[in-house]
Amino acid sequence: MSATLEKMEIVNASEGTAESDEVLDLEEEEQFFQDIDVLVEHNISSEDIQLIKNMGINTIKGVQMTIRKKLLGLKGFDEAKVDKIKEACCKVALSSGFMTALEVSDQRKQIFKLSTGSSKLDKLLGGGIESMSITEVFGEFRTGKTQLSHTLCVTAQMPGPNGYIGGKVMFIDTEHTFRPERLRAIAERFNLDQTAVLENILYARAYNSEHQYELLNSVAAKFHEEAGIFKLLIVDSVMALFRVDFSGRGEMADRQQKLGQLMSRLQKISEEYNVAVFVTNQITSDFGAAPADADLQKPVGGNILAHASTTRLALKKGKGRRRVAKIYDSPDLEESEVTFAITSGGIDDPRD
Ligand code: ATP
Ligand code: MG
Repeated sequence: MSATLEKMEIVNASEGTAESDEVLDLEEEEQFFQDIDVLVEHNISSEDIQLIKNMGINTIKGVQMTIRKKLLGLKGFDEAKVDKIKEACCKVALSSGFMTALEVSDQRKQIFKLSTGSSKLDKLLGGGIESMSITEVFGEFRTGKTQLSHTLCVTAQMPGPNGYIGGKVMFIDTEHTFRPERLRAIAERFNLDQTAVLENILYARAYNSEHQYELLNSVAAKFHEEAGIFKLLIVDSVMALFRVDFSGRGEMADRQQKLGQLMSRLQKISEEYNVAVFVTNQITSDFGAAPADADLQKPVGGNILAHASTTRLALKKGKGRRRVAKIYDSPDLEESEVTFAITSGGIDDPRD
């Protein structure tokens, strides 16, 4: 375990660590993050394993999530070799790929929820931002998307319900709006050591849409290296660079294809490493001049983004610091709305 996390645990000690039966069974967790190095025991060469790792795939589960076509693109990989690797992964994996509903239920117990900083917003989300899935928040400028991202950077480090012990955060910034001083103020609100909070957040700036995708390989490698330590991956914002790099109708198909690859990779990472993926998104500019009504505002990214995000949250401005959040699309949440506030200590319930 890294020194940084030890520091974080000390910080959180005052909150009381939740050492209960509910904490993930270590053995189970190990199987969850099984390294593809074990494939050596199934006569897969270490050179081939390294080639797979270079693609950002580090776990057995990761290989199982990867389509054959992608593996066939690797140097020296033919159908026979891919067959052998896929078969070896099946043997190593706990089961043949089928699970009983009871096992699914057990696996879903590993899912945790991160607080937004506002108890009302958490309630709207059924407890908070969920791991193993993608949560998207969209709204016009100044609706609090970046403030919410910053708040989550801090709350993800704090113990939570169901034995959640807190963990590190990865922040991918495409708009250059990441502000450590905001994190300090939020850490102060929660009585956390500011330095320790900042040390637990890894930051990367993405310069174009391709770089944004490539960064995910490094993200996966880091999540693998510090297995079980990272709990949250933020991309603020997910669409900004795509909107710059692809313009006009002619490039739309290409853009959507690349966006689909990015979202698919994010979804796989969320499941492979049991992290919450939180992305912010913008709205169509046609509606910029329309009344500040979230019902009239549509997120950009089209169907690709709509299908990739498990939960979609629409934000609109309210009076002063107040903002209104509404569930836009979710498999299991009703479409209701709540009011929250943006404060110096991050996202909070409205108090005045
Ligand atoms: P964009 O689409 O431009 O990225 P956004 O939705 O990310 O916008 P945020 O930057 O999250 O918007 O929110 C900006 C709002 O947060 C502003 O209304 C600003 O007044 C408020 N805000 C920023 N810093 C503070 C602070 N320290 N204390 C209170 N409110 C703040
Ligand atoms: Mg922003």
